[in-house]
Amino acid sequence: MSSISGLIAPGLCAACGRGLFLSGSALCPDCSAALELFGDPRCRKCGRSVPKGAAPVCGNCASVRKGVSFLLPCGPYRGVLREAVLALKLRGFTALSEDLSSLMAAVVERDGRCLSGWVLVPVPLSPLSWRNRGYNHAALLARGTARKTGLPVLSGALRKTRETARQSELSRLYRLRNVRRAFEADEAVRGENVLLVDDVVTTGATAEACAAALKEKGARRVAVLCAALTLPEDSLRRNR
Ligand SMILES: [Zn+2]
Ligand SMILES: [Zn+2]
Repeated sequence: MSSISGLIAPGLCAACGRGLFLSGSALCPDCSAALELFGDPRCRKCGRSVPKGAAPVCGNCASVRKGVSFLLPCGPYRGVLREAVLALKLRGFTALSEDLSSLMAAVVERDGRCLSGWVLVPVPLSPLSWRNRGYNHAALLARGTARKTGLPVLSGALRKTRETARQSELSRLYRLRNVRRAFEADEAVRGENVLLVDDVVTTGATAEACAAALKEKGARRVAVLCAALTLPEDSLRRNR
């Protein structure tokens, strides 16, 4: 996989494009330092930072949809984190899965609820997207997180059974309709607590559709681990 990123970006920072000097990271030191992450205390449900002494659930957890117990996001979907997610997903910077999965493993460890008795399941791509892209960024993130936390991965436990329009091109209203019944789980998830892995959670519609498929096959609980969470205030600004 490193050969893919090497071809496309020989030693350039995935976020700003400046040269990298053997840092072992796909981001330059300035961009790494500028990563905005959710600090403690965090909402127990949606994972956003909440003020000290506030209620454990922020009440602004709109992206935590039906069938999903809670979200574990690393930070808000903006700035360097957004650039990194887009570079991993759309521009072939697969080396970024190392940086991002380190952040994700740190969130799992700090939160503590999923450290034992949970399995990682990446959100799948459709066969066509997989063929076009050659890799599933969510699977790379799940594998990296597994290596760093010791949690097992059930890679093929969830399949995407039909093509869907790109969620980012649809309004909130149509996102659930777009992905409903687009996923199918297999028997391997029966009785498991599943930590679903994706790059970004926006409305939570994909996670809701995946959770429905997993629970149909007997998964016990479903939570979501993601690199980034779109905050309502940021998505409003972008869609304006
Ligand atoms: Zn940079
Ligand atoms: Zn919340």
